[in-house]
Amino acid sequence: MARNIVVTGGATGIGKAIARVFAAEGDTVVITGRRAEPLHATAAELGVTAEVCDATDPAQIEKLVDRLPGQIDVLVNNAGGNTDFDSEAPTDLRALAAAWRTNLDANLLSAVLMTTALRDRLTGAVVHIGSIAADKGAGAYGAAKAGLASWNIQLSAELGPRGVTANVVAPGYISDTEFFRDKLTEERRASLIAATHTRRPGVPEDIAAAVHYLASPAARQVTGQVLAVNGGERTTR
Ligand code: NDP
Repeated sequence: MARNIVVTGGATGIGKAIARVFAAEGDTVVITGRRAEPLHATAAELGVTAEVCDATDPAQIEKLVDRLPGQIDVLVNNAGGNTDFDSEAPTDLRALAAAWRTNLDANLLSAVLMTTALRDRLTGAVVHIGSIAADKGAGAYGAAKAGLASWNIQLSAELGPRGVTANVVAPGYISDTEFFRDKLTEERRASLIAATHTRRPGVPEDIAAAVHYLASPAARQVTGQVLAVNGGERTTR
């Protein structure tokens, strides 16, 4: 039976691959994001619905949930990104606070707000996209993703009695998304690949497959977990 799926950040990269998997099964998929143009292009390509919504903005989320189906079978909190990629942490406290807030909002608060807004309408699974950065020590971004995994344990305990699972998929290096585009030297890219046991970068479809499993009835006893999809990359710094 067709399910109702919401994928935040679904216009590009990993979110788009996730939306594609569910759409291919005939599910009703809504993708969200801040930029209208890529969102509508992806929606047209995949045959899904686009909703412009900043997942860090409570007012926009309140408007969004009014437009969503009454029952949400699967929520995928994929929206996020690293706004301080490889930059030195600012020493000016105001700049530091702004940088941390941006990362915490995008990667942690967004999932808390979206899940809370839809909590009473969830029937199947919540899957958050975390990161290997949570275990590496990676500034505000890594701390936000670690916080996501921590908060998910509480969420899992709250939703479990209702038959709703809550899990994190934690990717390692995923090539070909906007996340790393034009930000890696060839040397850095090679070292990220060398750090895996598989000697290959992940692709968005690797993450989509993990999300699809966690959202399936086969995974109904799997909850409160972090599923690493990182080619065996070691997580030490
Ligand atoms: P992308 O930049 O392609 O995807 C991020 C998506 O999130 C974009 O579509 C963006 O759209 C959306 N987004 C960002 N902020 C918000 C917001 N506040 N509200 C709504 N949508 C938002 O990169 P990826 O596909 O690689 O990243 C997807 C997820 O995977 C992220 O959470 C990232 O942290 C995580 N990840 C990625 C890894 C990688 O190697 N690529 C590794 C580990 C984790 P818009 O800007 O229009 O809002």
